[in-house]
Amino acid sequence: MPVSKPNTATPPETGAAVTKVYQALRMPIVDGEIPPGERINIDAIARRLGVSQTPVREALQRLEGDDLLVYTPGRGYRTTPMLDLAGLRSVFEFRLLVEPWAARAAATDRLTNPSSALEEELGAFESVAATKGDVRSELLGHDTRFHDTILRAAGNEVVRSAYAQTHCHLHVFRLYPVDVDGAITIEEHGRIRDAIRHCDADEAERAMTEHITGSYARSSQAFAGPSPRMREPARDETTGARVVH
Ligand SMILES: [Zn+2]
Repeated sequence: MPVSKPNTATPPETGAAVTKVYQALRMPIVDGEIPPGERINIDAIARRLGVSQTPVREALQRLEGDDLLVYTPGRGYRTTPMLDLAGLRSVFEFRLLVEPWAARAAATDRLTNPSSALEEELGAFESVAATKGDVRSELLGHDTRFHDTILRAAGNEVVRSAYAQTHCHLHVFRLYPVDVDGAITIEEHGRIRDAIRHCDADEAERAMTEHITGSYARSSQAFAGPSPRMREPARDETTGARVVH
């Protein structure tokens, strides 16, 4: 006899409460208002936000999925430590392997060219940045969506999902939200969008490489002293293209 799956769907009112708790905690953890290593008190959050403990627990599981919380049996949830310099370099080396390739692929296939989606995404962020001085929380959302749009267009779900699991935008931003007014991001994203719009694969790859290299240099200012260089993929000295063996 087939065993029916238990109904685990979250009722709509609980879903709304989960979102409320998730949003109330996420940015405070990202911007350091709730510091790394802090214990999370479920009961206190439930009382403060006027919800029961069930949506709080679900929201904490989502934050654990974002790597912002860690659960230890018997001790409960705590906020995760920040990336250290080695962790930061690892994240950016991974991005350097994957994203210039994705930008090239997005610029190459005319049928899946994402330039109108990139245009829309960047245009919306530019409008916000023009009216607000501090766009940190909008920048996080914009940067995450902009890069995901390119990865999606590259058409490799294994790469896209591996990338998503790094939660790289969230963790780099948590470490050091360097581009407070969004100006550097707008300029560098604009160059990537233009190259993809013109189906210029070489320029798309180059613009993405420079965006990631620059972002690593800026983020590593969170640490005192010189930062280790990223180990870059081998390139042909005359064409600058990646060497594939
Ligand atoms: Zn970016």
